[in-house]
Amino acid sequence: MQISRVAVIGAGTMGNGIAQVCAVAGLQVVMLDISEAALEKGLRTLSASLARLVTKGQLDEDAKQAALERIQTTTDKQGLADADLVIEAATEDVVLKEKILADIGQYVRPQTLIASNTSSISITRLAAVVERPERFIGIHFFNPVPLMGLVELIAGLQTSEETVTVAQGFVERVGKTPVGVRNSAGFVVNRILVPMINEAIFVLQEGLARPEDIDTGMRLGCNHPIGPLALADLIGLDTLLAIMEVLQQNLGDPKYRPAPLLREMVEAGYLGRKSGKGFFSYP
Ligand code: NAD
Repeated sequence: MQISRVAVIGAGTMGNGIAQVCAVAGLQVVMLDISEAALEKGLRTLSASLARLVTKGQLDEDAKQAALERIQTTTDKQGLADADLVIEAATEDVVLKEKILADIGQYVRPQTLIASNTSSISITRLAAVVERPERFIGIHFFNPVPLMGLVELIAGLQTSEETVTVAQGFVERVGKTPVGVRNSAGFVVNRILVPMINEAIFVLQEGLARPEDIDTGMRLGCNHPIGPLALADLIGLDTLLAIMEVLQQNLGDPKYRPAPLLREMVEAGYLGRKSGKGFFSYP
């Protein structure tokens, strides 16, 4: 089975990035969101990202235009009808994802592959609500999608070998390196990364250093390309909190408790770049 038409559910931080790499790779893309405003913002972000690639000489103007022409946006689930692959990239909330995934079956063709870009939620659990669970898989992109090379591929207990093979071909087609990982809360990279970011928030909360100094410490002391608090703002503090909660609930170890400051920032609506304010400001 060859993937040529992709539908992405959710036009946020990840959804618009996934739509972009698919369109650049020559695939037809439908980006679906419940919010018109999110679709407009997603399209603006994606156009700006393509323009930056042109400025850097990594894409020519014609390829940029052609990619943009391959992308449609909609709030109507009928837009899923032609997709060979649907990638769910909506908010990290298990109840919301189960609702979306349980509903998809009536809009897609029987052979359509369905994937979730979840950062942490069990693929086996999500597969259980899908009409054809053997055609469901975790395809976990990294942020920012156009720049990051890795995709974690997570098979649930129900996922067929054929689904894994087709998903692997798709990931390679969009220029990423797939790594197969076992289904477990947070999979592999976030199991390591997100507790590290959470610890940086504890360090800030305890007043051990200023945010910029914590980040400078990890950049110059550990050679990280970006500090943990700036990375938290890039990921989205609501998403980080949701991931910590999944780790805590599923792995049961108190070391996964979310930093109270993280929770309070989310309560305040300080979500990072997407809201204009997080540990740093984005006017
Ligand atoms: P986001 O908050 O930026 O965007 C979520 C989008 O989903 C919003 O536009 C919202 O309107 C939309 N949405 C909500 N309910 C919907 C519904 N019922 N139907 C259609 N659209 C709906 O979130 P994000 O950071 O893009 O995260 C999306 C997914 O990707 C999450 O599962 C997250 O864990 C995962 N992820 C995030 C990152 C990251 O760094 N942010 C990295 C890898 C994976």
